[in-house]
Amino acid sequence: MSFSITKKGDALAAAQAGSFDVLPIFDPAMECASRAYIEALQTEKLKRQVRYAYERVPYYRAKMDEMGVSPTDIQTLDDVRKLPFTDKTALRDTYPYGMFAVSLDEVREIHASSGTTGTPIVVGYTDADMDVWSDCIARLVQMAGVVPADNAQMAFGYGMFTGGFGLHYGLQKLGCTMIPAGAGNTERHIKMIQDYGTTVLIATPSYAMHICEVGEQLGYDWESSPLRVGLFGGEPCPPGLKAEIESRMHIVCTDNYGLTEVMGPGVSGECLAARDQQHIAEDHFLWEVVDPKTGEPVAEGEMGELVLTPLDKQAIPVLRYRTHDLTRVTKEPCACGRTHARMDKVRSRSDDMLIIRGTNVFPSQIEDVLTQIDEVTPHYHIIVETVDGMDALTVQTEIRPSAFTDSFEALDAMRRRIEEKLKSVLLVGVKVSLMEPGGIERTMGKAKHVEDRR
Ligand SMILES: [Zn+2]
Repeated sequence: MSFSITKKGDALAAAQAGSFDVLPIFDPAMECASRAYIEALQTEKLKRQVRYAYERVPYYRAKMDEMGVSPTDIQTLDDVRKLPFTDKTALRDTYPYGMFAVSLDEVREIHASSGTTGTPIVVGYTDADMDVWSDCIARLVQMAGVVPADNAQMAFGYGMFTGGFGLHYGLQKLGCTMIPAGAGNTERHIKMIQDYGTTVLIATPSYAMHICEVGEQLGYDWESSPLRVGLFGGEPCPPGLKAEIESRMHIVCTDNYGLTEVMGPGVSGECLAARDQQHIAEDHFLWEVVDPKTGEPVAEGEMGELVLTPLDKQAIPVLRYRTHDLTRVTKEPCACGRTHARMDKVRSRSDDMLIIRGTNVFPSQIEDVLTQIDEVTPHYHIIVETVDGMDALTVQTEIRPSAFTDSFEALDAMRRRIEEKLKSVLLVGVKVSLMEPGGIERTMGKAKHVEDRR
């Protein structure tokens, strides 16, 4: 069977048939390098990067002096454990440029985290940093079957957020035509997809779902649309939501992982062979998985908190950044041909765990239950509050138009059934509130799923 991967659906069909030879790899020499080569390269880069951080960033010099560690103590990859961790606080406390290792003359671009929780975190990129960044993105968009002939439409906002520009530069590096539509105006997005022959859409998964629904309401035929790939980011993408978007929009969707503090998007990306996992760009990032409480490494393949040390960053070298994201990593070879380690997609953060009457609850568990229930949509909202001195958990979910009924008894039975299912998984009582179709607010950017009123 032969595949033309620029034909709608063929990239996924080729992957499902195991024909990975037709799916291009951006940098095969690096992405398919041997484990021995990757680790030797990481070791050399780690030694160089630690010396660089020590010499140029007073924060790291002071921390390492305090711990009695010198750059010459770092000789192997395991020696990374001798180094101090870095967390958000260090980057906030040195606002705006305290962690920079170069003068602003050498910085080509500044980005910042949103700052919704206080002082923003400011990061900078030298020319070399921009090269690494666009390289990482070019790799991960090819994992989704994107090719230079594609027209890519941006539905992320540009601005200080790293997602918009990061994807923009990487897609351009690959050779794609960029359509910088930006966030918002859903109907315009749909018209542009049709008129400009857009083949790739970059969006948060929740906004892609919204574009899909608005298109359907307008009578737009997604099956005959030129759109064939969705590149998601900005928020975790639940597998159920992705599958639903793929089938309703007739596209192939992948998502990637990254965070502003270590670069932005592009740290890892999903290939079409291992769809619940993402390849980490190991030549640029050294990863560790640690116990979130003790900071000690967990056994290989075990779940823990991801810690990242960028190996090439010039403007802001960061050592052992605590992401608070929970995942596990495997070095097993992948069917796609790439050898870089794969991390499970991040579904939970060590700090988004809700404690409800003494029981640990992750929003991703609620999401998983809801996606197994045919009568509700992937949209939901979680409210935690104190009622009569006790924690109370309410899950708002939306009934699908096809399952909607005027019968109070039928709705009540549906509600109780969902409550039972949630209780059996979460081990705490949950109140479910059923909303009519479209009742849960749609967002252009990251969907906010949890409202903790305690
Ligand atoms: Zn792979």
